[in-house]
Amino acid sequence: MLMTESASLVVMKFGGTSVGDVSRVKRVAEIVGEYRESNPGVGVVVVLSAMAGETNRLVALAKECVERPNPRELDVLLATGEQVTVALLAMRLNEMGIPSKSLLAPQVRIATDSRHTNAQIEEIECATLLEALREGGVPVVAGFQGIAGSGDITTLGRGGSDITAVALAAALKAETCFIYTDVAGVFSTDPRVCGEAKLLERVSHEEMLEMASLGAKVLHTRSVYFAMRYAVPLIVLSTFAGPFEPGRNGTWIVNEEELMEKPVVTGVTLRLDEAQITIEAMPSSIATMAALFDGLSERDVYIDMISQESVGGDAVNVSLTVPDEQSVTALETIRALVPSLRANGVTVERDIAKVSVVGIGMRYHTGVAARVFRCLARENIDVQMVNTSEIKLSVLVARKYCDAAVRALHAEFIPEGATVSAKG
Ligand code: ADP
Ligand code: ASP
Ligand code: MG
Repeated sequence: MLMTESASLVVMKFGGTSVGDVSRVKRVAEIVGEYRESNPGVGVVVVLSAMAGETNRLVALAKECVERPNPRELDVLLATGEQVTVALLAMRLNEMGIPSKSLLAPQVRIATDSRHTNAQIEEIECATLLEALREGGVPVVAGFQGIAGSGDITTLGRGGSDITAVALAAALKAETCFIYTDVAGVFSTDPRVCGEAKLLERVSHEEMLEMASLGAKVLHTRSVYFAMRYAVPLIVLSTFAGPFEPGRNGTWIVNEEELMEKPVVTGVTLRLDEAQITIEAMPSSIATMAALFDGLSERDVYIDMISQESVGGDAVNVSLTVPDEQSVTALETIRALVPSLRANGVTVERDIAKVSVVGIGMRYHTGVAARVFRCLARENIDVQMVNTSEIKLSVLVARKYCDAAVRALHAEFIPEGATVSAKG
C-alpha cells in the first residue's frame, strides 16, 4: 500500500441506510459540513455505499437475466450503486459551498487483484485524493469497487465499502476512520435480534475480527484486519444519533492493551448463511478422509465445522459446514466422490444457524463450554456441531432456535447494566 506524508485528515464512511434516499444524502452532507466547521484544518475524505437495497436489487436483476451471471459483468453492474450516491452527495456539498468531487475506483486508483465479486485491495494511490484535499475540497469516493490490472472493474464482496474506507484511511494515514451506520455502534449482540443488546464502548481488534466473521455485519471482517494491520483508529457510530459521544453513540475498535476489562464474553453472534453436508456411512480411515477433503479443496470450497459420528462397524457419518453459496459445488464434488469413498450417499441441511460467543476473556477462564451447554439445555435447544478457538465457541443449532439461542446465551454471559444500552 502506498503511504504518504501525513496530513491531518479523517475518513468518514456512510453505509446504505445512511444514504438510503435523497433526504438522507442531504443529512450526510450536513454531518460533513458540521465536522468541517468544528474541526477547521482537518481534511475530510468521504466513502459511500450504495442506497440500502440497491445492491440486492442489482443482484436480483442479474439473476433474472441469466442463471449464473458472469462475474466480470456482475461487477460492472454492482459498481453502479455507489456511483449514484457519490454523485448526489458531491452535488449537495457543492451547493452548500463545500467544493467536492465524486471519485470512482479507477479515478482514485484503488488497485485490486482480479477475483471478481470478491477482489482484494493491493494498492491505493493517494495523489488524486491529496490534490483534492490540498485544494480544500471533500473527495467523495465510491466504496466497494476497485480496478484490476486488466483495467476491469472489480468489487470487494458484500459489505465491502467498510474495506474501502479503512484501506483509504491506512493509505492516507488518517487520524480517524468513522464508520457511520444505522445503529449506535458495536453491540454485545445484534440489537435487531435481542432487545437487551448493550452498546460497547470499546472492542478489541481480535474480538471484532471474530465477531465480524461470525455474523456481526456491522463491520466487514477485512476492514477490521486493515485497521489492526495498519493501526487505523476506528470508530463505529450512528448517522442518526448526533455526534460521537462515548457511552451514547459510538464504539472504538482498539488494541487489546487499551481495554481496562476483559469480560469472558463480549459478544454473541449469529450466522444463517451456512449449509451442513453429511456424508453417510463412509468407511472410517484417514485415507478416505484425505480423499474427501482433497476433492473439496480442489474446488476451493471453504470448510468451517467438521464432525464425525460412528454409525456401527467401521462406518462413520462425516458432517461439515460450508458457506451456503458453495453448497451446490460441495454437493456436486462429494456426489462424484461417493463411489470411490464407498459411502452410502450425501445429504444437505440448510435449516441451520451458527451461534457463537466471543471474548478475549475466554483465554483466562475455564468452564465456558459447560455454561454454554447448560444454558442451551435449559432452553431444550439441541447442539448439532461445535467449533472452538482461543476466544470463541460456536454451536450449530436448528434454524428455528436461532433467536432463542442468541437471547439465552446473551442473558447467560452479558451482565445486565454492564454497559449503556442505546440504539441509533
Ligand atoms: P451499513 O449499511 O451501514 O454498512 P450494515 O447493515 O452493513 O450497515 O451493518 C449494520 C447492521 O449490523 C445493524 O443494523 C445490525 O442489525 C447489524 N448487526 C449485527 N450484529 C451487530 C452487532 N453486534 N452490533 C451492531 N450491529 C450489528
Ligand atoms: N453496496 C455494497 C453492498 O450492499 C457494499 C456496502 O454496502 O458496503 O454489499
Ligand atoms: Mg455494511
